[in-house]
Amino acid sequence: MRDRSQLDRQYVWHPFTAMQGWLDAEPVVIERGEGVYLYDTRGNRYIDGVSSLWCNIHGHQHPHINEAIRKQLDKIAHSTLLGLGSVASIELAERLVSITPQSLTKVFYSDSGATATEIAIKMAFQYWLNKGEKGRTRFLALRNSYHGDTIGSVSVGGIRLLHQIFGPLVFEASFCDCPFPYRFEGTAEECKEYSLGQMEGLLQEFEGRVAAIIMEPLVQGAAGLIMHPEGFLTGVKELAGRYGVLLILDEVAVGFGRTGTMWACTQESVSPDLMCLGKGLTGGYLPVAATLTSQTVFEAFLGEPTGMTTFYHGHTFTGNALGCAAAVASLEVFENEGTLARLPEKISLIDKYLREISELEFVGDVRQRGMMAAVELVADKGTKRGFESGRKMGAKVCQVLRSKGVMMRPLGDVLVIMPPLAIGLGVLEEMLELVKECVGKDLRKK
Ligand SMILES: *Cc1c(COP(=O)(O)O)cnc(C)c1O
Repeated sequence: MRDRSQLDRQYVWHPFTAMQGWLDAEPVVIERGEGVYLYDTRGNRYIDGVSSLWCNIHGHQHPHINEAIRKQLDKIAHSTLLGLGSVASIELAERLVSITPQSLTKVFYSDSGATATEIAIKMAFQYWLNKGEKGRTRFLALRNSYHGDTIGSVSVGGIRLLHQIFGPLVFEASFCDCPFPYRFEGTAEECKEYSLGQMEGLLQEFEGRVAAIIMEPLVQGAAGLIMHPEGFLTGVKELAGRYGVLLILDEVAVGFGRTGTMWACTQESVSPDLMCLGKGLTGGYLPVAATLTSQTVFEAFLGEPTGMTTFYHGHTFTGNALGCAAAVASLEVFENEGTLARLPEKISLIDKYLREISELEFVGDVRQRGMMAAVELVADKGTKRGFESGRKMGAKVCQVLRSKGVMMRPLGDVLVIMPPLAIGLGVLEEMLELVKECVGKDLRKK
């Protein structure tokens, strides 16, 4: 058999990957998946500990989703939504509107989280134009936020390592510090008030010129699973209302049960003007994303077809039928298997292990929201001083975990524990036990 690792290095350029190091190493090549397991070309089995980058929900090759895709395939794989309707896209849109916060009434499809946020940004901008307010071109976002990698979503992204390089290409946005109690001197409440104060400062500075606030509700994923203090989202919503700007919530990572409830924003009873969905939308099977909007936003785009109020944006595969069928099937699995109802015991188990892990020598902080958990490795627990980044401790620990059959991908020195929601208690415990064991080793020697 041909050596796939060799061919990978010869032909494939990987995302978010320093390719020099990649070429010098032996890549693992995944051949198939089943349930929460991934299998590589050499026959090794791994627990999919990051849900194939936070998107898998019910496991791989779920019979119901597989079946739905096959059935759809026997009808049609794709037809355009430009000027035509399609059955699968209608069915999914109706379902999404019925299960998302009440303010949301329309679904605009695209194919990735980045396009979902890109679309929300363009819609928010044009919304104000259509209403005759030309000066509202500014977006407010949080430092360390991540909304995807297209130029618009990078413009509102606040992670320096990822976003700084493209500085000359992006539009200007304003950022306030994200509330991160672990790295804040003061209580969680003070941390929250501090960030809200900064946000209000920006709203005052740019009064009449802000189009929208965009943020990840409850958890800033790519930042290292930074978890906001309770009430922060409510505070932002209140500010958006008081200053009359739109609120865009990016639920690409936190949506579809990740935080323990279907949506993160409902935990604080917040309804946004626009909401972005991706990752888990199809159960993690196919690239479909969606931007949902309120009726008010939608109606600003009505008017004479010859006028300039139309939203001129779309993608070839907008509303892809196979993807929409997978998404509908995924929502059915949520119902059939009581996916959300079965989370609390898994969440408690993670909590129990995190408490134990937090006692370990090189662990600075542990944090959890539902089925999203993080373990922050530090060189010095007392001062919270991190390891030098060149040592890549997060990657090293994950390398050891991989050799023990757990696939995880860290964010710097933050270990990300995010298995499929459907993971069984036994496998979850096995995985957490291995994480505890690997983090418990003497990391000084690594
Ligand atoms: C992953 C992610 C995105 C981007 O989604 P892609 O499908 O990778 O483009 C956007 N926002 C958040 C919060 C994400 O976690």
